[in-house]
Amino acid sequence: MFSKILIANRGEIAIRVIRACKELGIRTVAVYSEVDRSSLHVRLADEAVCIGGPKAEQSYLNIPALVSAAEITDVDGIHPGYGFLSQNAHFAEICDSCKITFIGPSAASIRLMGDKLAAKDLVRKAGIPIIPGSMAAVQNKEEALKTARRIQYPVIVKAAGGGGGRGMRVCHNDVRLISALTTCQTEAEANFGNRDVFVEKYIEEPRHIEFQVLADQAGHTLHLGERDCTIQRRHQKLIEEAPSTAVDAKLRRKMGELAVRAAKAANYVSAGTVEFLLDRDGDFFFIEMNTRIQVEHPVTEVVTGVDLIKEQIRIAAGETLSLKQDDVALTGHAIECRINAEDPANDFSPSPGRITAYYQPGGQGVRVDTHVCAGYDVPPYYDSLLAKLITWGDNREAAIRVMQRALDEYVLEPIRTTIPLYKQIFSDPTFWRGQLTTDYIERLLEGTE
Ligand code: ADP
Repeated sequence: MFSKILIANRGEIAIRVIRACKELGIRTVAVYSEVDRSSLHVRLADEAVCIGGPKAEQSYLNIPALVSAAEITDVDGIHPGYGFLSQNAHFAEICDSCKITFIGPSAASIRLMGDKLAAKDLVRKAGIPIIPGSMAAVQNKEEALKTARRIQYPVIVKAAGGGGGRGMRVCHNDVRLISALTTCQTEAEANFGNRDVFVEKYIEEPRHIEFQVLADQAGHTLHLGERDCTIQRRHQKLIEEAPSTAVDAKLRRKMGELAVRAAKAANYVSAGTVEFLLDRDGDFFFIEMNTRIQVEHPVTEVVTGVDLIKEQIRIAAGETLSLKQDDVALTGHAIECRINAEDPANDFSPSPGRITAYYQPGGQGVRVDTHVCAGYDVPPYYDSLLAKLITWGDNREAAIRVMQRALDEYVLEPIRTTIPLYKQIFSDPTFWRGQLTTDYIERLLEGTE
């Protein structure tokens, strides 16, 4: 087992990893940018090292600074969290070459699944359904138009190296497709350092259903059921739940088996997520695999009782999985809301600033994963996630009722957050009925204007 782990991240996920390490008896090293000096993750870790300026490139993405911090503090493992360097194959390789264990999959798996086109090709060969579209990066507009004619509009242009819902454009005709191609290529180059884009069929009114997988170094791979992440804005998740109202035991078995097959095809080791879109006819298609722990992992932890971060750490230490597929049982229902520093009434514009009043909900059925407290300054440099509010109950209705009262208790002022939007969603009959599609929020907001 590890003796000391450096957490190459900030915010709630850094705290989440520190907590798991403490419970496993592992010492922790926090890293922080100049602006995060007084952040909670710094206070909770055994040691802390400043790794640079406020901008992510100067600190949390600064590989030389991170590796130096790891060497100075003599850690034997690095946990990357999510975002930042968590899906950077180069970083995983550097950790390996410094004899520090990267707590995640191999650089090869990260690289393979980090390319959505390569990932689609791999899983298709393994017999997993994929969305029809280009099989390689689109080189020019003629190729894009040819693919669109074959698969029919609407189509979506996506960056092969994309993530975080960015770099995607839905197109309904040739004119839009041609302009989307250039914009997506430029955006992809700027954001992901990879200009490759591709065209695939745009599935209308789908649900986003993803499967949590765990795989150890001895070749055991299993899934922990699904998360429904259909409630999104601009292709970014806001609310996640487990289990999904759209998945019954039979479908869960089928999709779960294919998720495991996808992980095996990528020689995957560690915790990972296989993402699918489920269409109106009940057909589902692989979209991508995320080779890291995800923001929404707590809903799976609640319904399965498995601590995913501890499993990740044990797997990286060479231990075999503590459970088998048949041991996985789903109990009750869990929902997570991402409390973001954004103004939902103003097109989700960022809302940084100082939080002067803070009170977080508690009680039966409530978990809050956050780095925020009264007096916390929300920096403008990083993503807008302030807290994850997770609630649960014996069934979906119970989990929703706990969520409603927890949202009512939450005080996070004076900045704008997504809380008012969630209050609206949890009192919406369509949400209660579980009739969800990825354009749910757009429709809800249109309806109230
Ligand atoms: P990212 O890696 O940026 O998160 P994904 O490929 O995981 O991108 O897709 C994110 C979201 O974008 C999906 O959950 C879905 O809402 C939407 N999306 C992606 N591809 C399609 C598609 N072919 N048809 C419809 N929606 C899509």
